[in-house]
Amino acid sequence: MLRFGTSGIPRSTPRPGTEHGIRRTRELGLDHLEMAWVNGVKMSDDTADRIAAAARENEVSLTAHGPYYINLCGAADIVERSRVRLIDTARLATRCGAESFCFHAGFYGALDAAEADARVRRELITVCGESERQGSRVDIRPELTGKASQVGSLEEVLGWSADLPRVAPCVDFSHRYARALGEYNCYADFAATLEAIAAALGRAALERLHIHISGIQFGPKGERRHEPLSETAFRWKELLRALKDLRVSGWVVSESPAMEDDALLLQRTYRRMR
Ligand SMILES: [Zn+2]
Repeated sequence: MLRFGTSGIPRSTPRPGTEHGIRRTRELGLDHLEMAWVNGVKMSDDTADRIAAAARENEVSLTAHGPYYINLCGAADIVERSRVRLIDTARLATRCGAESFCFHAGFYGALDAAEADARVRRELITVCGESERQGSRVDIRPELTGKASQVGSLEEVLGWSADLPRVAPCVDFSHRYARALGEYNCYADFAATLEAIAAALGRAALERLHIHISGIQFGPKGERRHEPLSETAFRWKELLRALKDLRVSGWVVSESPAMEDDALLLQRTYRRMR
């Protein structure tokens, strides 16, 4: 089963707050919510417990998007703070009952790809170890990123996932397309990406996959901005077809500015497919 939802609470949520967002998600007929902790998160354990209860009651699954200002390839102090943020995100996400959280690993900066890869891997080992000690149970998912300057190609994300037990990929198909300046935009490409995931991580990875889909615009450096599905050249219907044919399960998060309208459009289109 694929569960569809928004990144951040639906726009039509009557009052602010994740609990209200979870109830609104259920009213809309969506099954999932990604908590957008992109500007950082401060939350009491009490609030987290109430979110977990609301999610259980409404049968809405949860994931989280970690803070944007994480860079595992930066200067020592930045890496240190990034590590703390990741461990904290894992702890809070677990407390909220989330099953997975994603984050952008960082920027190559002056590093070559091999050095950046090694640094991310080293930090992930520390983050996984500390999260384990704290009892965090959530998947730790570096995201396939949308710009050539950002660490997180499909190959990199699969490499970390293959080598580290708690780590799995967050596959943003729109980013893959934007990062490659418009490649990977047809059914055969989407199916090949899914086959590559299964080849690297086993078929089970396709049965619990964290996916992002949105309309997207790109420029010479890759991702420029997300846009509604109705306006994009990204061939999201062919992607849904590939997800259906390869019997992928997990969470599909729409990061579109059209929020729940596009999450519902994805869900409806997918469910009508035979
Ligand atoms: Zn992201």
